[in-house]
Amino acid sequence: MNIYHLSMECYPVAKVGGLADVVGALPKYQNKVEGINAKVVMPWYNKPFVWEQEFEIVFDGFIHQSHHMFQVQVMKEKSNALGFELYLVKIPGLLDRDNPYGYWDESQQFLAFQHGVLHWLSAMQIRPDVLHCHDYHTGLVPFMIENCPDFQFLKGVKTIGTIHNGEYQGQMRWSMAQYMPWFDSWKGGLLDWGGYINPLATMIKCCHAFNAVSSGYMEELFYNFRGLESLVWQEKGKAHGIINGIDLDVWNPETDPMLDFNYNKSSASEGKWHNKQALCLEYGLNPDLPLFSFIGRFANEKGADLIPEIAKNAIEQTQGGINIMILGSGDKAIENRLREMNHVYVNLSIDLGYKEYLSHKIYASSDFLLMPSRVEPCGLNQMYAMRYGTVPVVRYTGGLRDTVQDVTSGGAGLNFKNAGVEDCVHAIHRAREIFWNKDYLQNLINSNMNFDFSWDKSAENYLNLYRN
Ligand code: ADP
Repeated sequence: MNIYHLSMECYPVAKVGGLADVVGALPKYQNKVEGINAKVVMPWYNKPFVWEQEFEIVFDGFIHQSHHMFQVQVMKEKSNALGFELYLVKIPGLLDRDNPYGYWDESQQFLAFQHGVLHWLSAMQIRPDVLHCHDYHTGLVPFMIENCPDFQFLKGVKTIGTIHNGEYQGQMRWSMAQYMPWFDSWKGGLLDWGGYINPLATMIKCCHAFNAVSSGYMEELFYNFRGLESLVWQEKGKAHGIINGIDLDVWNPETDPMLDFNYNKSSASEGKWHNKQALCLEYGLNPDLPLFSFIGRFANEKGADLIPEIAKNAIEQTQGGINIMILGSGDKAIENRLREMNHVYVNLSIDLGYKEYLSHKIYASSDFLLMPSRVEPCGLNQMYAMRYGTVPVVRYTGGLRDTVQDVTSGGAGLNFKNAGVEDCVHAIHRAREIFWNKDYLQNLINSNMNFDFSWDKSAENYLNLYRN
């Protein structure tokens, strides 16, 4: 079975968030299964990986967007270094950028990617068994292969759409249709949602099956999906929930080259302590106190706007009895507030930016990981934390519901109900008590490290979806 994953991100080529981790791991695990050949197709970016590896050009052609003609080159990474075939699509002016997102013309950029991929496959007469579209950036592919005469060759190819984040739908004005490959205009209704072209809605309407990245999140989408609730009800028969896994080769405290000290289950308490000491020394924190961390994008869906108040209240209420370490970037108001607080509270340390190596160190060094998310489609941070023996303290929502059980119901993490400062701080007090009960904490560390979050099972679930 030939599977083509289409995505804007893939770790380690280009990563902004969890999408990259998923697309960098899922195909590798799928390829372990006899008869499966899963590949990744993504845009070309000006990134170290792209310059460090060797590529060969497998396609050179042209597409038209409106009145403009663009060159399309497809490059294949020669050594399959990632455990799957990797194809990069380069379109000078649109797909040759430093980063996946954040450009004024990104709608046109995403359209060009989808158009370029389908043009390449059609021109080279490559007919995949499955086109697996990740998030709205590739959400128009199921529509295009059925309704654009240029891609007649691909008509009938099975398409799967995965919703990694339903908050982003790629809504654009109808005038953007000029940048699409020519399609039968009477099919335009499939693109429309509320008077706009909505790629995520189109994906749901046109794909053969779609899934959210956890069952908990899939259930929530029926009631809270930024206006697409009625659509998921209509398309209910195609809806699935498949939880993400984690790449155990990358996220392994025993071999992780980004850690100061490696450790395994039997050396966890010692290993974590050495890592914590090193991190605390670097960031001016007292290693004897419980260390709570937050890693992530500063966005409302992550509850990042709550973090400054949570930190303030928790530090003040415990009279400096805890440390808080924050790694992230995004909303400038949150960044500025944290900068101010950093001067006031010795128990708080922040690092504003995107630092892969530091995230690994923090997962290993922390006692607790905070996730006050308002929306969490799956969440990978809690799984990385658990794998590194860190106790997750999470809001009970989406994928966090599916992966973290509270200690009071036999789990090894802490849940709180409302995405608010008070509930989270209350959970921090509970966690602090656990910290001082060393045997109990050790049990939780062991339980968390024993959880099986490997991709094997979920990769199989995706294969079953394709087979159906
Ligand atoms: P999302 O994709 O919604 O941002 P996920 O929990 O699915 O959230 O994945 C987040 C991924 O991004 C994790 O691998 C996390 O470690 C990583 N990450 C987020 N922010 C940072 C940061 N500032 N520095 C390093 N890694 C980060």
